[in-house]
Amino acid sequence: MRIELENLEGSKGDFAHVYQPDDLNPVDERVSLIAPAAVDGKVRLSRNQVFVNGHVETRAQVECDRCLKPIEVPVNTDFTLEYISNSDYQSSEAAELTEEELSVSVFDGEAIDVDEIVKEQILLAVPTRVLCREDCKGICPECGADKNTGECNCVTNEIDPRWAALKDLT
Ligand SMILES: [Zn+2]
Ligand SMILES: [Zn+2]
Repeated sequence: MRIELENLEGSKGDFAHVYQPDDLNPVDERVSLIAPAAVDGKVRLSRNQVFVNGHVETRAQVECDRCLKPIEVPVNTDFTLEYISNSDYQSSEAAELTEEELSVSVFDGEAIDVDEIVKEQILLAVPTRVLCREDCKGICPECGADKNTGECNCVTNEIDPRWAALKDLT
């Protein structure tokens, strides 16, 4: 969904949309949606700037960092974004502004891409490291068995990284 700024004249700038998971999947190579994503918010024009604030709610799925088991991550997040058009960004006045306001995004001056906003907010809401449980044992690097369901018979010669450094010295 794109919000054309010229259509905003005279309207309140409210928007709302529900994306089906397939509309946005894959969000990136790591994150996918397992439930519809509801977004609502408001677009406000102020001289050369555009302010967008709103709320995204959905459920995402990522793999456990250690055992690759799928984990559900609820997303429930508010956002406030600020845009300036590309031509304004080129002018020095705006460049000074962006130095202070690093959160400013540059856009084409015509429309705000809500799909991109929603994807970005989902990625920001999902932690970079997710474990299925605090003490997940992960999978065996030899046979791929899930060590949470029992030890396999592989003899692994995994070296503690703290000792690996010493090994290099000898
Ligand atoms: Zn795990
Ligand atoms: Zn094994």
